[in-house]
Amino acid sequence: MPRQVYDRGIISIRIEKLTKRFGAVTALHDLDLTIDPGELFFLLGPSGCGKTTLLRSLAGFYIPEEGNIYFGEENVSRLEPHKRNTGMMFQSYALWPHMSVAENVAFGLQERKVSKEEIKRRVGEALESVRMESYAERRPNQLSGGQQQRVALARALVIRPRCLLLDEPLSNLDAKLRLEMRTEIRRVCKEFKLTTVYVTHDQKEALSISDRMAILDGGNILQVGTPRDVYKKPTCKTVAHFIGETDFLEGSITGMYGNMATVETGIGRFDGVLGDPSRPPALNSKVTLSIRPECWELSHERHAERNSVHGRIGEFVYLGEVAQYELVVRDTSLKVFERNPRFVDGANRGEIFASVDPEDVVVLVD
Ligand code: ADP
Ligand code: MG
Repeated sequence: MPRQVYDRGIISIRIEKLTKRFGAVTALHDLDLTIDPGELFFLLGPSGCGKTTLLRSLAGFYIPEEGNIYFGEENVSRLEPHKRNTGMMFQSYALWPHMSVAENVAFGLQERKVSKEEIKRRVGEALESVRMESYAERRPNQLSGGQQQRVALARALVIRPRCLLLDEPLSNLDAKLRLEMRTEIRRVCKEFKLTTVYVTHDQKEALSISDRMAILDGGNILQVGTPRDVYKKPTCKTVAHFIGETDFLEGSITGMYGNMATVETGIGRFDGVLGDPSRPPALNSKVTLSIRPECWELSHERHAERNSVHGRIGEFVYLGEVAQYELVVRDTSLKVFERNPRFVDGANRGEIFASVDPEDVVVLVD
């Protein structure tokens, strides 16, 4: 069944030089960010980095000290929340216990003085879009956590918001429901072509369903990119550390070739790509290499002089489809993942070589 296209169309969200302070605390520092129309965009970062503050600023619950927010061409920076028409969903979805599912979803429309027939039709549509149409007459306490979350999503959608703002929407659900609901949220956003800003500290959620994400730290945006960008090409150590697992190796620059560099480390010489080509390091300067554990190739023979280390397997965990090794190279211990593990049995546990493609070695300045 075709879904309605929203009255005001699909909008971009543009944030310009946004600063928000709470007394002495600057929660957001001079942020610039553009979210494309219909994009499922994530704000990702550790607790206290400013995610909720940014989301609440978009909704209109906080007025920034400096800067502007645009929905499409409209400057909404100083508009009251109800005039911004955003659909919101939080960690605690707070359905009213004394109302049925349908009444909970209808509430926002009654406030907006929508006619009875229109309410009935739109509540039906919203419940159908989250596959809850057969639960309309139930009370929230007769629903599972995941079903309550679907109702909360329907309640956000029914007002035909200009954008959807989600703050850690799945953190009250168990692991299995989280997996199910994140796919469901993506489906709904894409079906409605809704520009969506989704806040989480869970990198798996962000990597699995986002179109793009911003990594925040201390009120600053460190990097914006697709899941692949931020995972494969982190621009700084904080992002490399925050997203996925990585080995860091300290070293110094001995050669530079465009976006590539050669780095001498305590366990050998590596060619790698600059994480942030806009800030090329000087020759002989100190840098850090970031290498993902699954990028190492294990072998009994050395293939090349560079980008190859020679060590022995220390601790390891066998997980069936993958084994996680500690590879001990002199006084350095590297984390190495091997898919379809071959090096786990005793005979294979002597000296081994591990090599890594220069494309998988990211040279970071700080
Ligand atoms: P996150 O959602 O990423 O965990 P927040 O946006 O809630 O982070 O908080 C960012 C910073 O702003 C934190 O240092 C927090 O203590 C501070 N902060 C957030 N809300 C308020 C508030 N209402 N009053 C004072 N400080 C706040
Ligand atoms: Mg928060």
